[in-house]
Amino acid sequence: MDKLFLKTPIEFLKGVGTQRANVLKKELGIATYIDLLRHYPFRYIDRTKYYKLNEVDTELPLIQIIVRLKTIELLGEKATKRLVAKAVDDTGNIELVWFKSLKWIEKQLQPNSLYVIFGKVSFFNGKKQMTHPELELYQSPNSNFGNLSLQPVYSSTEKLKLFGLDSKGIQKIIASLVVHCLPHIEDNIPAYILNKYQLLNSATALKNIHFPNNAAILKHAIKALKFEELFFIQLKLLRTKLLRTQKFKGNVFDNVGDKFNFFYKNLLPFKLTEAQKRVIKEIRTDTKQGIQMNRLVQGDVGSGKTVVALLIMLLAVDNGYQACLMAPTEILANQHYLSLKALLKDNFLNIALLTGSVKQKNRKIIHEHLAAGTLNILIGTHALIEDNVLFKNLGLAVIDEQHRFGVEQRAKLWKKNAIPPHVLVMTATPIPRTLAMTLYGDLDVSVIDELPAGRKPIHTMHLYESSRLRMFGLMRQEIAKGRQVYVVYPLIKESATLDLKNLLDGTEVIAAEFPLPQYKISIVHGQMKTFEKEFEMQRFVKGETQIMVATTVIEVGVNIPNATVMVIENAERFGLAQLHQLRGRVGRGAEKSYCILMSGNKLSIDGRTRLQTMVSTQDGFKISEIDLQLRGPGNIKGKEQSGVLDLKIADLALDQQILLEARKTVIQLFDNDPELTKPENETLKNFFVTPKVGITLDKIS
Ligand code: ADP
Ligand code: MG
Repeated sequence: MDKLFLKTPIEFLKGVGTQRANVLKKELGIATYIDLLRHYPFRYIDRTKYYKLNEVDTELPLIQIIVRLKTIELLGEKATKRLVAKAVDDTGNIELVWFKSLKWIEKQLQPNSLYVIFGKVSFFNGKKQMTHPELELYQSPNSNFGNLSLQPVYSSTEKLKLFGLDSKGIQKIIASLVVHCLPHIEDNIPAYILNKYQLLNSATALKNIHFPNNAAILKHAIKALKFEELFFIQLKLLRTKLLRTQKFKGNVFDNVGDKFNFFYKNLLPFKLTEAQKRVIKEIRTDTKQGIQMNRLVQGDVGSGKTVVALLIMLLAVDNGYQACLMAPTEILANQHYLSLKALLKDNFLNIALLTGSVKQKNRKIIHEHLAAGTLNILIGTHALIEDNVLFKNLGLAVIDEQHRFGVEQRAKLWKKNAIPPHVLVMTATPIPRTLAMTLYGDLDVSVIDELPAGRKPIHTMHLYESSRLRMFGLMRQEIAKGRQVYVVYPLIKESATLDLKNLLDGTEVIAAEFPLPQYKISIVHGQMKTFEKEFEMQRFVKGETQIMVATTVIEVGVNIPNATVMVIENAERFGLAQLHQLRGRVGRGAEKSYCILMSGNKLSIDGRTRLQTMVSTQDGFKISEIDLQLRGPGNIKGKEQSGVLDLKIADLALDQQILLEARKTVIQLFDNDPELTKPENETLKNFFVTPKVGITLDKIS
């Protein structure tokens, strides 16, 4: 049947109409039949379980209890007027209270009868109470509330409730929709794959996710829909990769030349770690082959990704190409520029910095040299992938610490040269494996899983306000040794509006504790002008100031090895990935370093878990896994831009196994049938060529 049916505007569904259609669209983004079908319940109420009154506490969600009504009374006056029924079971008693429709309810209630009551239990004046419970006369265990033992609960909004679309209301329109739609639903995944993994077909899965007959089939339905969701994401990513390797030629870097060798032999100030060497070898293999490289280099903070990038950029230059290095902030771009210049010594090759704050005149000069090919390496922010930045021969683009750099952004880079440049995306590890596979599933991955020798573990402490003097003491002690200190406040990042009170107040306290002329303080936050930030950074870099008071603008990448103390105020307000990045600003030299997590006394369970995690481990992978479990992938940096993480049902923290299965399936599929020409894969081929009207198609296209 016609799949277009599923694209029918929702207003045509019985019981919806124009008004409700408008709010559904506005509040939940539901515009068509298929959108509504994909509005899955977020939980189910188990209507098979009955609680006893002595088992209940206020922590329980909505529950049902069988009770006998004893007395029914109207109490109070006017505003406090209420209907109170006392009820018992063989383990205790409870009060049922209504504030509305009193007369009507009173008429329904029969004293001394058995009822099933359903609702949330609270305590009032030491008594168990349920307000506005649902209730029905008790008949037999299974006939209450229809035959749905697992009742779906849908997310709704205040606005939708005004239009009668609370969870129940939504359930009602979905019920009529499901009946309508089921005959129109075809399987997107070929039958042989469904069979292999014993997955329910789409129609059965969709019916049972909304109206499960029992817990077992619900489990199967959820698994099937998760698999389907992840399968199509992988299908798209891996096909992108396949097409790229088929279509695009790649620049060939087969010559290890003077620049690379000279730098390696004469300028490199340390021995590379084995992991760095291995990754460089992997990249070299890639870039020799005439295929365009897209590689993700994962390496924990401080693992030395920058020098890997530099060596590959030199390789590009040796082979007659230009290279660029893109960083997420101006501070970082600037730091890269200065440190690469220092590493390379002057005049070794031509290198320039391009950011939003480079003046028009200089910009013009840079553009000219880029076009002429006299500029070898360009470092900058997003400014350098703007359309008006034209290279003569861009062979390599390195993207540093950009969680947001998805397929579309990379595609923009690919167009910068007739033969698309190799792309190297570098990131610190706080991207768990499952997330990386979804965000960067079309990339090859290299891992720098070793820190340079001699790094000492960072001593991490969690202190409360009462220990502030201890923290000052440690700062003083380290500064006396000639070291430097960061103090970071929980203010919103560079782009967002800042609540400056914390940072400014904090600076006053610190200035009082560490007075001039003995101590000097740098301040950096997102509301400062770029040149001001840079000026303050440089004072700290040069050691003119001992303390850097900052917001999270210094979170990523900043490399000042002489800094040995990182104090994070209100650390409970930061996410784990951020804390890990911030801590990574110290422990970069040979000295012992400290990270002090200051927190208020009141901590949420999650907040406490985060701080405990930081104290107990320094392993970026471990931290990122815990982070994913605590926050859910929805909140991980960068998902807004990636587009692929708008998952309706799969949960990257919980569904690793399903993701791996889905990915493996797609890899095998392309191994056996790269063009998807075999008849059994026809539906999948259609997925890419026909107008996208299928049931998963619209959301990832
Ligand atoms: P990240 O991977 O976090 O970007 P960086 O590239 O900034 O780390 O490197 C962190 C510090 O370690 C820098 O000061 C860098 O010079 C130094 N470094 C990098 N590789 C090595 C190495 N093999 N041995 C010693 N120090 C190194
Ligand atoms: Mg870095």
